[in-house]
Amino acid sequence: MTESIAEQETLTFRAEVQQLLNILANSLYTDREIFLRELISNASDALHRIQFEMLTNRDVLDPDADLKIHVDVDEDAHTLTVSDTGVGMTRQELVENLGTIAHSGVAAFLQGIEEGERPADIIGQFGVGFYSVFTVADEVTVTTRSYRPDAEAWRWTSQGEGSFTLEPAEKEGRGTTIEIALKDDATQFASTWRVREIVKTHSDYVSFPILVDGEVVNQQTALWRKLPQEVEENAYADLYRQLTLDTEDPLLHIHLVTDVPVDIRSILYVPRTRDRGFLNLRQDAGLRLYAKKILIQEDNQDLLPEYLGFVEGVVDSESLPLNISRETVQRSRAMRHIEKALTGRVLKGLRELAEDRPDDYAAFWEAFGPFIKQGAVTDYANQADLLPLLRFPSSTSDGALIALEDYVARMPENQEAIYYVVADDAASAAHSPHLDAFRRRGLEVLYFLDPVDGLLARAVGEYEEKPLKDASDPDLSLPAEEEETVDEEGVPQEDLERLIARFEEILGDQVSEVRASRLLVDSPCRLVSSQGGPERDLQRLRRLVGEEAELPPMILEVNRRHPLIRDLSERIAGQSEDDLVEPIAQQLFDNLLLLEGLHPNPARMVPRLQALLEAATGVER
Ligand code: ADP
Ligand code: MG
Repeated sequence: MTESIAEQETLTFRAEVQQLLNILANSLYTDREIFLRELISNASDALHRIQFEMLTNRDVLDPDADLKIHVDVDEDAHTLTVSDTGVGMTRQELVENLGTIAHSGVAAFLQGIEEGERPADIIGQFGVGFYSVFTVADEVTVTTRSYRPDAEAWRWTSQGEGSFTLEPAEKEGRGTTIEIALKDDATQFASTWRVREIVKTHSDYVSFPILVDGEVVNQQTALWRKLPQEVEENAYADLYRQLTLDTEDPLLHIHLVTDVPVDIRSILYVPRTRDRGFLNLRQDAGLRLYAKKILIQEDNQDLLPEYLGFVEGVVDSESLPLNISRETVQRSRAMRHIEKALTGRVLKGLRELAEDRPDDYAAFWEAFGPFIKQGAVTDYANQADLLPLLRFPSSTSDGALIALEDYVARMPENQEAIYYVVADDAASAAHSPHLDAFRRRGLEVLYFLDPVDGLLARAVGEYEEKPLKDASDPDLSLPAEEEETVDEEGVPQEDLERLIARFEEILGDQVSEVRASRLLVDSPCRLVSSQGGPERDLQRLRRLVGEEAELPPMILEVNRRHPLIRDLSERIAGQSEDDLVEPIAQQLFDNLLLLEGLHPNPARMVPRLQALLEAATGVER
């Protein structure tokens, strides 16, 4: 057994690694220096992990080793060595970590490349991690020994071309040493001065000392441990990119420093877009959580409510006890305090964004609006802070999104409620017959176009003491309009009754009742719910998740003054009703289903519309 282990073995890289290496070999080299940031970030991760292992009282090799990162330059031999006293790797870990690509995001990215163009500068675009070393290296040797007390040291060597070799090695202490033999065109990196500069630029706030040829180069103060006024603006964006691998700057950063009731040092970010695609290499979103400067969790999801899950960043606290399990961390009192503070601060930051940078806020709303709505529905404690963040289009806003505050400010004095109309999209809302009465009275109506909006209205109830009311509510009482009259030109009562009876006959089970409308002006008819809104909202949600649900029974209201209804009434009153009455009545009903976003099967209208078209053109059947 010892014999076979002692031999050198050659293994091939997984296909996706080979592909990545190919691309790296052919890419432009404007940002090659980033390889060093990647190696240092891996060393720092390894040191954070060993800190954590030691906390949890495990047996650890070399418990007293200094937690440091060394970068050593040999200007003559054109080599560079990066070493750390971190967790190290076992043989198996070497094969898994430096033979494959764990990130599914990178795999997706690589597929994108095959189909599309070759990116000009892949390393500059996003961190490709360890493999970026091959943009500068002819050969890389990784000698590593795991912290596990019985672990052996191993050596991994590769020229970055398809394969790597593994062999047992000699190494005294725990950790990893990476030796880089620089390419001829990369000898600039064999310069102490240049390497110091790169470390300062990209790794200044790594929390472990980085020594270049024996001298500490970095500040080590984590950015979030500084005071906001000490931090340069672009440092925030740098940290963001490093944490998230996003190439874009964040939309918003929040630097929070408090001492009471708990100590919090935190930098939080709102990304610019929701789907950062392949760039979003982090699989589990969450905050990096440090207790007393030690990283205890990389993807904490308990420090912000679920609906703020898009927020990225770092939280560090002296108030969290150290030697505790994750489960206890989650339940600790300090955690609840931190959550409250972070949530409040994020919501405040968003409110300020809306005030100071409306265009950026619009971008935010576009990307994350649904989450804010989810918050307004579920987080009652913070509802008052969430409501000002909501945005809706309206019947008079010309496509612009408005805040509830804007709506209330524009309300005429005698208006007592905030009105909304539920529809699938703005076009359906604009054509909604429910708006007739509002248009007539010059009242603005919010468009509720998201399936959750109905629930939202119910959960919110009111804003500034104005109740939110559904425009399709059959019992709505609107401020009186000046010329409210029963129009003489409308269908006379006797004919109306006949028309209603005939409609009920034609529509059968599809409606629970047909009646005359009090509110319609320009539309021939409308549908109102006989059960009230909640049922209708649930119905919309069910359809959204693809459930086939039966339509709720609905009331059809007809406008006795509308020419179409008057014409139908005459046709029905005639001696022998013609063939058009039935399809027209049914089509009017189907139109309403469409406008309400409730039509179960729009295709079923086609034969009927075809027949109506033929009748309209006089084409013989
Ligand atoms: P990432 O750091 O995003 O996981 P990398 O390509 O940079 O991706 O590194 C791949 C993996 O190799 C790391 O996740 C880690 O497990 C391992 N690794 C790299 N460098 C070191 C190191 N210095 N010490 C221990 N493990 C390392
Ligand atoms: Mg890395």
